[in-house]
Amino acid sequence: MSGEDSGTRLKGRGVGSAIVGLALVVAALAALPRLAAQDYRARAVALLKTVPLIDGHNDLPDAIREHGGLDSVDFAQPQPKLMTDIPRLRAGAVGAQFWAAYVPVTTLHRGEHPAVYALEQIDLVHRLCHTYRQSLALATTAAEVERNFKAGKISCLIGIEGGHAIENSLGALRMFARLGVRYMTLTHWETIDWADAATDSAKHNGLTAFGREVVREMNRVGMLVDLSHVSDATMVGALRASRAPVIFSHSSARVLSHHVRNVPDSILAMVKANDGLVMANFNPAFVSETVRLYEDSMQVRARALRAGGADSTTVADSDRAWAARAPKATLQQVADHIGHLRDVMGVDHVGIGSDFDGITQVPVGLEDVSKFPDLLAELLRRGWSDDDVRKVAGLNALRVLRTAERVAAESPAAK
Ligand SMILES: [Zn+2]
Repeated sequence: MSGEDSGTRLKGRGVGSAIVGLALVVAALAALPRLAAQDYRARAVALLKTVPLIDGHNDLPDAIREHGGLDSVDFAQPQPKLMTDIPRLRAGAVGAQFWAAYVPVTTLHRGEHPAVYALEQIDLVHRLCHTYRQSLALATTAAEVERNFKAGKISCLIGIEGGHAIENSLGALRMFARLGVRYMTLTHWETIDWADAATDSAKHNGLTAFGREVVREMNRVGMLVDLSHVSDATMVGALRASRAPVIFSHSSARVLSHHVRNVPDSILAMVKANDGLVMANFNPAFVSETVRLYEDSMQVRARALRAGGADSTTVADSDRAWAARAPKATLQQVADHIGHLRDVMGVDHVGIGSDFDGITQVPVGLEDVSKFPDLLAELLRRGWSDDDVRKVAGLNALRVLRTAERVAAESPAAK
C-alpha cells in the first residue's frame, strides 16, 4: 500500500509540471510549419538537385531483352508495361542507375555460356546509354557520376548479377571490369562452383578458396563485391576476405521480413565495420512478413495441386486467384526497413536498391522509378535531416565507389 501511496503523491506533485510541459510541447508543435505531403515531396525533389540519387539495382536490361531487344522499345516515351523509362527516371529525379547485367543460372543448365550472356547484357546497357545519350551517360567512377549529374545526365552504372558469369575465370572477371562493370553479385538463385546462394543448398560452407580469390581480385580491379542473393556463410566469408567495402545492391532487413534474401542484424554489424552499404529492396515479399508468408502459402498450394495431378492451367488459374487476394506491401514499410538499417548500422551504411523491372509486384506508393522522391519524403516526414536523406539517396554509394577505387589504385598491378 505504501508504495501505491508514494506513487500517488509523486503523480500528484507531477501534475502541475506535466501540464506546463504539455503546454510547451503544444506551443512548439504549433510553431512548426505544417508540411503537407506534397511539401515533403517538393523538399525531397529539391534535395535531389544537390545529390545524385543512386539506385543499386534495376533489371531493365533483361526486361528489354524479353520484350524483343532495344529496338523494340522507345525508352524516351512512357512504357506502361515497364517500371522504368526516361520520362519516369526524370520524374523520379534519378541521378545514377546500376543496371543489372543479369545472367540466368539456366544458362549453366542449358550448356550455354553465361559469360556470353553477360557480355550481351553489358552490350545492351552500352547501347541503351548511347542511344539515349541526351539523357543517359555511362559512368565507371564516382567522379564520372558527379560530372554527369552536373551535366544533367543520368549515369549508367553496370553490375553483373550472378558470379557464374565469369565461368570460373579471373581473366573474364578482369575483362568485365574493363568493360565498365563496377559490381558483381556473387551468386543468383543457385549455388555455384565457388559460392553458396541464399536460396539453394549449401555446398561450400560459404566461399571456397577460389571464391575468396575472386573477392580479392574484385578488390584489386575496383569492382564492388555484391552480397545480395548469397547465403549467410558466403556473406561472412566475403566480408572477411574483402579489403574494400561490400554492398548489398538489393536486400532489406531480415528482422522485418524473414526472407533469406534479406540481411540479418548480426551481419549488418559486420557491414558497418566493413564501411559497406545495404541498399533496401522493394520486393513486397522482402519488405512485408505478411506478404512473404502469403507467397509461401501460395507455393505450398501450387505444389499440392501439382501433386494431386492438376494440369498447368489449373495451377496457373489458382495462382492468379490467390495473387488477386494477396496482401500488399507499402512504401511506409520500405521506410521502416531503411529506418531499421539506420538504427543498426548508422545512416552511413544505408542506400536504395529498388529491383524495379526485376520484381513483378510493387509496394503501394512505390510503383515505378518516378516514386523515389515519395520514399525520401516519407523519411523527411519521419523527421530525418536533409543531410541524412542525402546520404541514403546517393552520398553513401558515392563514398563506397570512391573507396573501392582507392583500394584498387593502392593494389599491386596484375602480373
Ligand atoms: Zn536479384
